[in-house]
Amino acid sequence: MGEQRSGRFAPSPSADLHIGNLRTAVLAWLFARSSGRRFLLRVEDLDDRTFPDVAARQIADLVAIGITWDEPPQFQHEHARRYNTIVDELLAAGMAYECYCSRKEILAASRAPHAPQGAYPGTCRGLTGAQRAEKRAASGRPPALRLRAQQTEHTVTDLLRGYYTGVVDDFVLRRFDGVPAYNLAVVVDDGAAGIDQVVRGEDLLSSAPRQAYLASLLGLPAPVYAHVPLALNADGKRLAKRDGAVGLAEIGVGAALRQIADSLGYRSDTVDGMLAEFDPNRLPREPWVYRPGRQDSA
Ligand code: GLU
Repeated sequence: MGEQRSGRFAPSPSADLHIGNLRTAVLAWLFARSSGRRFLLRVEDLDDRTFPDVAARQIADLVAIGITWDEPPQFQHEHARRYNTIVDELLAAGMAYECYCSRKEILAASRAPHAPQGAYPGTCRGLTGAQRAEKRAASGRPPALRLRAQQTEHTVTDLLRGYYTGVVDDFVLRRFDGVPAYNLAVVVDDGAAGIDQVVRGEDLLSSAPRQAYLASLLGLPAPVYAHVPLALNADGKRLAKRDGAVGLAEIGVGAALRQIADSLGYRSDTVDGMLAEFDPNRLPREPWVYRPGRQDSA
């Protein structure tokens, strides 16, 4: 495991994929295949707002548009032991600590003058054993575990953005309810699968520095990233289910592929045809405004 260069698509099965998600999947596949990489699918189903029937439809939709992968899809809910081992090791090495803060307390503390922007303010970082016991008794719930970060920012390489430097804070590794945190699970799974190219929506660009920093602490190489522009609705907001007929079931496979190809400037409307035309240097850098039905009316 992990010797071969691979890219991946890693959807969360909380809702059916919309055309923007499908476009991101196509781009991830094009980036991987055009660079001779394998392609893997990972279902990010740790959260209790994710559903097996949604995962099954996401997989079927990806198959329907022609996306292929080289190993059976992985499911994060099957990797609990892998995540717990790593978090326990970080804790034992003093690289993680217990946090008793509620969301409300964090918001209040991070609004204080001189608090780091958009970062956990470090409230529980220096607690003594006695203070921890006190907090545990008062909060009445188990602690979350946070990374004890040794730096406050980190730089990643993004094929579309160049060098990107962003915040690293003491982010959560394991939630108070025992669920491994997204940032931890992504890094551990990408590392285990030999993922060296991460192509995903631009909304996750600000998470990349935290993830790459954690990878470095775990002795994993940093992947190269490509954060691709999102699909927006006619109001300029991120495309979502409530925007109407935005899923494959409503749009249809042929029309969806044509619209994705159009949005990327390709003449071919199959993923293999798009692969022949793919040039990462000529990708649109602007969000794609999607108007249901419109592209199809000609
Ligand atoms: N599961 C995340 C999502 O659907 C993507 C994770 C990733 O690509 O790193 O937003």
